[in-house]
Amino acid sequence: MNERFPYNEVLPVTNLLEFPKKIVITTHHKPDGDAMGSSLGLYNYLIEKGHDVTVITPSDYPDFLFWMPGNDKVIQFPKDTENAKKLIAEADMLFCLDYNQPDRTEVMAEIIVASKAIKVLIDHHLNPAPFCDHVFSYPLSCATAELIYQFIVAMDDKGIINKDIAECLYAGIMADTNSFRFETMTSDSHRIIAALMEAGAVNYKIHENVYDNFSFNRMKMVGYCLYNKLVVVPEYHTAYISLSKEESKQFDSGTGDTEGIVNMALEIKDIKLAAFFYENEKEVKISLRSKGTFSAKEMAQTHFEGGGHRNASGGKSYIGMEETIKKFLSILPAYEKELNK
Ligand code: 5GP
Ligand code: MN
Repeated sequence: MNERFPYNEVLPVTNLLEFPKKIVITTHHKPDGDAMGSSLGLYNYLIEKGHDVTVITPSDYPDFLFWMPGNDKVIQFPKDTENAKKLIAEADMLFCLDYNQPDRTEVMAEIIVASKAIKVLIDHHLNPAPFCDHVFSYPLSCATAELIYQFIVAMDDKGIINKDIAECLYAGIMADTNSFRFETMTSDSHRIIAALMEAGAVNYKIHENVYDNFSFNRMKMVGYCLYNKLVVVPEYHTAYISLSKEESKQFDSGTGDTEGIVNMALEIKDIKLAAFFYENEKEVKISLRSKGTFSAKEMAQTHFEGGGHRNASGGKSYIGMEETIKKFLSILPAYEKELNK
């Protein structure tokens, strides 16, 4: 844990933050629990330090994340574009959290690259593109929220971590480790969770806020997916679920309603790879999850214009649902050896 944010590397950023700055925090398109938890955790910390801070997201995000302290101040770029552009243009510093390349911010990519602000990247995805001045990239970390905790500690500000900061960071780590159960969750990560509880994060409330907050429609949609749409391909230890535009309309599905469905396919005995295909207006979004050493990331990167982590990745396809599933099935034989390990 101490290898992260070595004193000499963090010092230039510590010095920059010594005096009040105008700061914009950015994260990836369709931010998830870790993207919002790390962004709002850092936001609440920097506010506490007296900076002028705004979190700007490139898109909307699920409403089960709206409880996070500071959420009411978040600006969504597409909804408030002029204001967002002005804030970025006036910013002294720009934080890039939970993404490793500008195009993960979609509509904000160009503006982030062109920004003259000092850019600081804090992230846990492999191989960051060189677009930031200060890069803190630790792919072994379970969550960007964990890195924000370690960043604050490296700034010698552990004592500043209040309930607001703690709740956001707890939620980020919880979200990216599927409630502390992934291989990435180390004993150090558990110690950080304990420290966040000591700083005021009420664990069961956060779990309730995120996981027990779905609509009746979403539960029916999950039932539909499991009963009607789950396909198992036993010879490749693979299971997948697909949901077309028409199907999700039936359930009045909104942002976040499909979250977690892919994990259910992975709960089946002997399944090592799970996929979820979700059609929206412009593409088929693909979520991949794997167990053990099988790299879902490599599959997303090679075949679906995506990326992510070894056991949780995502991508997209523009050839329609039927063809996308055909393509997915056609590439499985190439992975036969790894899937049968
Ligand atoms: P999800 O399946 O929850 O949408 O995404 C899982 C992980 O895959 C994310 O945390 C992110 O790291 C990665 N990911 C998802 N979609 C994309 C994508 O379109 N491009 C890239 N590079 N990574 C993605
Ligand atoms: Mn993350």
